[in-house]
Amino acid sequence: MYAKNAWEKYDEAQLKEVEEFSSKYEDFISVNKTERTQVKGTVALLKENGFREFKVGDKVKEGDKVYFLNKNKNVNAFIIGKKGIEEGLRILGAHIDSPRLDVKQNPLYEAGGLCLLDTHYYGGVKKYQWVTIPLAIYGVVCKKDGTTVEVCIGDDPSDPIVGINDLLIHLSADQLQKPGAKVVEGEDLDLTLGNRPLKGEEKNPVKANVLAILKEKYDIEEEDFLSAELEIVPAGKARDFGLDRSMIAGYGHDDKCCAYASLRAVLDINEVPEYTSCCALVDKEEVGSIGASGAQSRFFENCIAELLEAQGKPQTELKRALTNSYMLSSDVSAGFDPLYGYVMENRNCCYLGKGVVFNKYTGARGKSGCNDANPEMIAWLRRIMDDAKVNFQTAELGKVDQGGGGTIAYILGNLNMNVIDAGMPVLNMHSPMEVISKADLFESYAAYKTFLVAKF
Ligand code: MN
Ligand code: MN
Repeated sequence: MYAKNAWEKYDEAQLKEVEEFSSKYEDFISVNKTERTQVKGTVALLKENGFREFKVGDKVKEGDKVYFLNKNKNVNAFIIGKKGIEEGLRILGAHIDSPRLDVKQNPLYEAGGLCLLDTHYYGGVKKYQWVTIPLAIYGVVCKKDGTTVEVCIGDDPSDPIVGINDLLIHLSADQLQKPGAKVVEGEDLDLTLGNRPLKGEEKNPVKANVLAILKEKYDIEEEDFLSAELEIVPAGKARDFGLDRSMIAGYGHDDKCCAYASLRAVLDINEVPEYTSCCALVDKEEVGSIGASGAQSRFFENCIAELLEAQGKPQTELKRALTNSYMLSSDVSAGFDPLYGYVMENRNCCYLGKGVVFNKYTGARGKSGCNDANPEMIAWLRRIMDDAKVNFQTAELGKVDQGGGGTIAYILGNLNMNVIDAGMPVLNMHSPMEVISKADLFESYAAYKTFLVAKF
């Protein structure tokens, strides 16, 4: 059903389903805010649902459920279909990294009686949005002895929070003359960690005290920051948003809402699919998908090659498998916001509540850099969505020449797959508090399930 509000079609039983799905999603993203924790949470759900980790040399047959783990930041899950892998897969691909602040390698310093932690922002952020809000620290510290310490501070009610200070309004005359991108400078996104000196310590006593706390709690030294990956994210849980509770406010909907809906779509298939189903969750999208855990890594192709071999097929079938594959690049889209309607062209933008969004293309300046989905694929999607009574809409990313952006769609498109972006509208994208509609979350999940099992 094209461009209709999804809430209008739900009966009591469906409303209950929407609420249950939304509530599980809120719980999932409240504890899984980084790519590492997303992978951990995902693997737990996969195991609960009968998936096993693929080991080199394994054999697979139709109906088998396997997953591949890559550097704890990227996971691909498969349900082996009735047809051979070389006949193509149905893939749902989403990214599990979100904009945030990363701790530098040499981050700790003391100034003005405070201990501070230096960061480098990750992905596209409006820097002024990250000051004076409660923040949490997640990540790992890998020590020289080969052990890894997991850090999470700020989300347990008994934890302290951390945060970044801003200049008081009384003395902001100069600051407020600056353009928005410089009101808060990147090098000023430093967290305040402490104010209490270590007794008897002469040099940098406040920093010494913070280090003593880290030593006691995590058994780490200052030099261990060199081999740490610590991420600063908003503290607190995802919550119902709006008096009618129709929306969800939370950190990292881009792209955890699509990642979760994609994962659940694969978990909830209760038949052996014709074509092998896949949920691919990748890292590093917000910085260009480059690197070992991003969508441009060879890891995805390697997994398909392993599966071919596990079916006793030559790896020369790999390219055939990729060409024959269909993929929904499940990523979010910019929802229409009446406060900023002037950046949208209202016949070609998406609205909260109208269901899953198909973006034929993204890109910037004349569609540059886009994956332009084939109309043959879109016609098929229109048919299967209508048959399954899934609400869908179509959109571009804002007005022509207003800006632009991209997703992982073109990367898999480059492997000669048929790919289209399919996700949900988000308000406040890349801010510490993004907003989505519960109906769109549910319709996306329904669209993903439909896509995995639909006939041509
Ligand atoms: Mn995204
Ligand atoms: Mn993004």
